Amino acid sequence: MYLLIDEKEGSYLIKGNLDLHTRYGIISCKELVEKNPGDIIKSHTGFIFHVLNPNIVDYIKKAKKGPQSVTLKDCGLIVAHTGVHSGSRVVDAGTGSGILAMFLSNIVNPEKLVTYEIRRDFAEIAKKNFEKAGIKNIELKMKDIYVGIDEKNLDLITLDLPEPWRVVKHARKSLKIGGYLVSYSPSIEQSKRLFDSLEGFQSETIECVTRNWDMKTVRPYSRMLAHTGFITIARLIER
Ligand code: SAH
Repeated sequence: MYLLIDEKEGSYLIKGNLDLHTRYGIISCKELVEKNPGDIIKSHTGFIFHVLNPNIVDYIKKAKKGPQSVTLKDCGLIVAHTGVHSGSRVVDAGTGSGILAMFLSNIVNPEKLVTYEIRRDFAEIAKKNFEKAGIKNIELKMKDIYVGIDEKNLDLITLDLPEPWRVVKHARKSLKIGGYLVSYSPSIEQSKRLFDSLEGFQSETIECVTRNWDMKTVRPYSRMLAHTGFITIARLIER
């Protein structure tokens, strides 16, 4: 796969098996396969593109989105507060478009991440996203996590589903002592209900708001993504 960045800051994630038609002209795939990361390639109109190796964030940005997925800032917050690392054992539910699963699988690699989903249509979208990114360490299970969690001795369980409190009793059995249950919910009522059910856990709830700046005018952009969701980070301290 190749990532092409144009001089207007547009980006294209392509396999390189077909010519790429852009608004700035056509890029020849024959020419592209001769290129290395760091090279430039010109379209037939002479417009310049930079050739790079894509990373997980490029795959996430270009992934197909079915249901609403978590944002990068929220992914970052989860990692920052749980210390998840290469080798950590993680279960994620629901898979949705697989964005959070992709982000975390890149971190826990070579350990396998397991993600649960109940809707086949969303599972298909997620599988295609995993394939396109060349991810091999995700196991997608068609299973309702409210019924139970097969895996044990987990470092982290991430939830992005409507009734996270229904998972708490299963999480208590499946997490290591000191492991984390993290839940992402758009509404504070869901977060409160989860909080009230967290017996045996020490928890905090965070809303992560980021503001981008236009560095040409040196002002914050007037439009911002004001709210995405609340993240509850709960650490199992007693079974
Ligand atoms: N975190 C995902 C988005 C999840 S959207 C991402 O980053 O892309 C919520 C998903 O949870 C939906 O796909 C829904 O079908 C699934 N879901 C809802 N209840 C579930 C349950 N009990 N078990 C497993 N998946 C569930």
